[in-house]
Amino acid sequence: MSAPSAPSAPSVPPVPPYGPYREDCPWCGSRRLRLRTRLRGDGPRQGAPHRSALERCADCRHVFRNPPLTPGPEHPVVRAGVRLRHALAARAMLHRCPGPESWLDVGTGDADFPHTARTHFPYTSFDGLDPTHRVLRARAVERVEEAYVGRLTDPHIAARLRARYDVVSLFQHLERVVDPRAELCAALRVLRPGGHLLVDVADPRRLLPTHPVGLGAELVAQGCTVLTGARGHRVIARKDASAP
Ligand SMILES: [Zn+2]
Repeated sequence: MSAPSAPSAPSVPPVPPYGPYREDCPWCGSRRLRLRTRLRGDGPRQGAPHRSALERCADCRHVFRNPPLTPGPEHPVVRAGVRLRHALAARAMLHRCPGPESWLDVGTGDADFPHTARTHFPYTSFDGLDPTHRVLRARAVERVEEAYVGRLTDPHIAARLRARYDVVSLFQHLERVVDPRAELCAALRVLRPGGHLLVDVADPRRLLPTHPVGLGAELVAQGCTVLTGARGHRVIARKDASAP
């Protein structure tokens, strides 16, 4: 009996590269948004609707991409750029916190950052948190020691990881969550007093300075000392011993 001829491959609809457009500022909730720059295309994602723009909040001056990009397969050039940024961030942390025992990478995906950072921190135990099961695959190939599927703001994750880590890192993560302020507070809660927070907010596709203007002030309000410049794309802060 001859095998039936293979049906033609069903066409898979492309993953939408953008999340939903938002009417309010992700940082302060203001609805007074001003168009700053319309972005035409996204290089690696050519063919996608050209409808992302940079908008600026008239109240807190936060600049963000609207609609936000969703995580997706990256162009090799972008991936190489991300690897370089990971290495630079790890080195920047090394100067301020040379020997952390425990490190949580939030929104870790395939744990690319722990994989790179391990070169500089061979004795550090890296854990990963991600809303997808990619983090389980990362644990299977020993890129992280513990893998958590979920979000920092999930009550069971927050309770389990409370005050546990010497370092918590968020790479291109705050700009992809619905409530970055809540996410930032949750990140500080899993940090032990005296621990270090690493936040990188640059857009890897365009190296846009999408630094939330309120980030430094928020960190200070939450009981941290900001150790890097206020307007860079990368912020390192130390959680004060008296912080909650
Ligand atoms: Zn705002």
